[in-house]
Formats: sequence, structure tokens, C-alpha cells
Amino acid sequence: SREDERAVSPEAYFDGLFDEDADLVRVSESIRERGMPDISVAPGYGRLLTMLVAAARCKAVLEIGALAGYSGICLARGLTEGGKLTSLELKPEYAELATANIAEAGYGDCAEMIVGDALASLDKLMASGRRFDFFFIDADKENYPNYLERAIGLAVPGALIAADNTLLRGRTLNEGKQGPAVQAVRDFNRRLATDPRLLGTHLPSYDGLALFMVR
Ligand code: SAM
Repeated sequence: SREDERAVSPEAYFDGLFDEDADLVRVSESIRERGMPDISVAPGYGRLLTMLVAAARCKAVLEIGALAGYSGICLARGLTEGGKLTSLELKPEYAELATANIAEAGYGDCAEMIVGDALASLDKLMASGRRFDFFFIDADKENYPNYLERAIGLAVPGALIAADNTLLRGRTLNEGKQGPAVQAVRDFNRRLATDPRLLGTHLPSYDGLALFMVR
């Protein structure tokens, strides 16, 4: 019907309630200009990250997978005074852009970028005794179970772990899909649900969103 044609998606409706966000629009434009994949978190997801970091009064936030700094800006916005964002990114050119975008948004002084393979970076952080109170996992899906183990090892009690793409656009649910990324994400989702060190839930919003706390 005509009514249906005029209907907007629930996501678009909620996004429309908020003022335009110049810093995040700039990040999206920088992604388009460089022909990079536009795989930043959705605006509402970013707002949730900000709110979680702020509500839990987080001071040491670690994100795995920076791309152009979209989620980094959202995480940094939630930091308490004196807090710090540490981002891990494999590709030097993405890391450079994310660093610039995060600085442009006003968070250069509280952000640190570690370039290289995230597993190696996580092991170095562990060896140097660093600890974190918030983790955002959003890099290569094959390593999600490894990232979870490392995050639990680096976590202070009560730390939060959020992860994106736990549904893989439906592939996670499709028995016919058995590729390495799908199998790793299924393993990750099951571990989150069954690990006695964790407490939390899987949300079917966006592309699947895991939200857990380390006891
Ligand atoms: N979190 C970003 C945001 O919402 O703005 C999006 C991250 S994007 C989905 C995934 C990122 O993980 C890419 O920038 C990619 O280069 C990075 N990545 C992939 N494999 C990686 C690895 N082994 N170590 C570190 N980063 C990796």
C-alpha cells in the first residue's frame, strides 16, 4: 500500500530523531573518499557504545579493529576524565586515518593506536601488565574466539565486552554455511553463553550484538 511505501526502517526512524553528528559524518566521508569498505558500526550502535562506556565509568577502553575511527570516537566520547582509548588496527593506512579522525573529533590526547596484528598486540599488552575495563571486538571474525580469551585475560573484574557482527548477516543461523568465519563466530557466541566467567546476553539488533560482563 501507499502507507507501506512511505514507511521508514526502524533504524532510520530512530536515527532521524538525533541531530546530525558532524564528526561522524566526516569519518563516513573519509571512508568514501578513499574507497574503503563502509563497515563502521551503525549510528545507533555507536551511541550505545558511548552510553555503555559512560555508564560503567570506564577508564581503559580497548577496541579491536579501528577502520577509520568511527567506533573509536563513539567509545572515546564515553570516557571518564583521565580515561584512555586504545585501538588495535592491522592496516597502517586505516590506523593513520583513524588516528587523524579521532584527533579531529577532539580525542587525540586520550587515544592510542597500536598498528599490527591484533593477536600479537594483545599478547604484548598482556605481557606489559595492562588491564582494561571495556572491550569492543570488531575485527577479523576468524579470531573472535581468540580475542575473547585475550579480553578475559586483560579484563579487570566487572569489565564489559561488546562485539559486533555476531549474526554475520544471517550466516551464523544458516546451517548450510560452514566457512571459517561462520564457525568461529558460532564458537564465539557459544563460549560467551556458556563461560562461567561471563554474564550477559546476545542481542539480535543490528548485525548481532554481544554484550557481556567479566565477573
Ligand atoms: N570498529 C570499526 C568502526 O566501527 O568504526 C570498524 C572495524 S572494521 C569492521 C574491521 C577492522 O579490523 C578493519 O579496519 C580491519 O583492517 C581490521 N582488522 C582485520 N584483521 C585484523 C587483525 N588481525 N588485527 C587487527 N585489525 C584487524
